[in-house]
Amino acid sequence: FIIPEFQDFSKEIEEIYWKCKENDSGTVASYIPQLKRMSPNYWGVSIVTIDGQRYSIGDVNIPFTIQSCSKPLSYAIALDLLGADVVHTYVGQEPSGRNFNELILDHNKKPHNPMINAGAIIICSLLKTMYNPDMSSAEKFDFTLNYFERLAGGQDLGFNNAVFLSERECADRNYALGFYMREHKCFPENSKFRECMDFYFQCCSLEANCEIVSVIAATLANGGICPISEEKVLKPESVRDVLSLMHSCGMYDYSGQFAFKVGLPAKSGVSGGMLVVVPNVMGMCLYSPPLDALGNSCRGVQFCEELVKKFNFHRYDNL
Ligand code: GLN
Repeated sequence: FIIPEFQDFSKEIEEIYWKCKENDSGTVASYIPQLKRMSPNYWGVSIVTIDGQRYSIGDVNIPFTIQSCSKPLSYAIALDLLGADVVHTYVGQEPSGRNFNELILDHNKKPHNPMINAGAIIICSLLKTMYNPDMSSAEKFDFTLNYFERLAGGQDLGFNNAVFLSERECADRNYALGFYMREHKCFPENSKFRECMDFYFQCCSLEANCEIVSVIAATLANGGICPISEEKVLKPESVRDVLSLMHSCGMYDYSGQFAFKVGLPAKSGVSGGMLVVVPNVMGMCLYSPPLDALGNSCRGVQFCEELVKKFNFHRYDNL
């Protein structure tokens, strides 16, 4: 086993879990009523190792929309289908140093990276427009959902239509970003603007729980082969690129500090979900809705910081 004393390991995880449960800082996202309603007390942790050992504690079966946790996944699919060269003619690899939805492009008038809204909208437009452009929006949604489900070992993901409708209704900033990018010819040729925006909102509105998302994280930890189904879903070179950008850009404007303190690739979402990868060891999903000022789950970030105090998972721990 990759983690030999899994019982003992689980015990330590449980201790960190209870410690973080006491943390009642942060506020639940309130820009749409469906998120505002989520209990600030929800707190769940799920772990899946690359050889299929599992541990879960807390609210691991509460469904939540994956929001920005979808960004590394759609980016991964785009890399796999179109190749890194094509994808990165449209989007960069640089942390933006700004908020995730800020109206800003890089020096080449491209989105800074695929982990912020601008970049993720463009990734969705690539998936929609450059790969099998004849697929209808409905077919492309199903096709992408199927990819996400295979990353999760064949488990079903839900789609929260109320969140989708609210996201689309409260999306002034995302539309502003979209128009700004259209002005600068960021979209691939023949893109249909509304369809691309809708596709982005749909990806944000996919629904899962901690247990399911932890399998996706484990698939990334395992180089694209799902440890539960053993299916090869992604090429290892795609996963390498995804983890690189999760490491440098996955935690909004806390990414630099997170890379320094925790040293693990991760991606957070506005619903309070966090996908964390310990490459070649395990994937984790942390879920707790209260967010800090930068938009990351308070308990999720604390958990990661406690985790690397206890275990040598930080990328530069083993020097
Ligand atoms: N739906 C959110 C948005 O586009 C997703 C962003 C997030 O999770 N940070 O603003």
